[in-house]
Amino acid sequence: MMQIQYKAPRNWLQTLLQTEIAQGMALTLRRMFNKPITRQYPEEKPVVAAGFRGRHALVRDAETGESRCVACMRCARVCPSHCIRIRWSRAADNSRVVDAYNIDALRCIFCGYCAEVCPVNAIVLTEVYAYAANGRAAFRFDKQALLDNWDDFAAQKGDMAGYVNPLCRPRNMPEGMLAHAKRVPVDSEWNGTEQWVGVNHRTVQKNAESPQNQKSPTSGQGGAEA
Ligand code: SF4
Ligand code: SF4
Repeated sequence: MMQIQYKAPRNWLQTLLQTEIAQGMALTLRRMFNKPITRQYPEEKPVVAAGFRGRHALVRDAETGESRCVACMRCARVCPSHCIRIRWSRAADNSRVVDAYNIDALRCIFCGYCAEVCPVNAIVLTEVYAYAANGRAAFRFDKQALLDNWDDFAAQKGDMAGYVNPLCRPRNMPEGMLAHAKRVPVDSEWNGTEQWVGVNHRTVQKNAESPQNQKSPTSGQGGAEA
């Protein structure tokens, strides 16, 4: 319950001596010797927390150098802002080839659903937060721009060998609930509690609480093609 505290009225001595001024000056003096809480940005860069949702990127496959995207369309379907547009065609071996992959970052609400549903860790929200530009066109990422974003992120991050996007590989999620490509080891730092990401977390929690209620969770998205 909210409590309202009223300030006691000043007595005549406080009015005469203007004690609030002295209190204010004392507070200012104390703060002068405190550790500064401001950061000298951009010289001092903040440490970005795991799971930060920054600029979009298409992960470049280490072996092929190309995007990992298999045009399953899950990200485009789950996106609440409808800001992902993908065009694909069939290759000779009947696999899907991504012809165009566009994200309008100005419409994005950075919910992270696209990275979460991607079965192959192809689309990520990187830790890049400083990407201001003049004009809107710079925020309409096409496939090449998204791959460039990944290169930029990789250059900033350094070693990407063990990088796992926290949105793609939700912490504490049982391996059995993850797509095969997501079953990768994560840092011990990720094994904390209350790190669930995804619509099925309530089902999992309910099943964990009542073992007799255990059944397979529903799958994420449907398979209709664009
Ligand atoms: S973060 Fe959310 S809103 Fe942005 S592209 Fe991904 S699914 Fe769409
Ligand atoms: S969910 Fe992943 S693999 Fe599927 S279309 Fe989106 S980026 Fe490509």
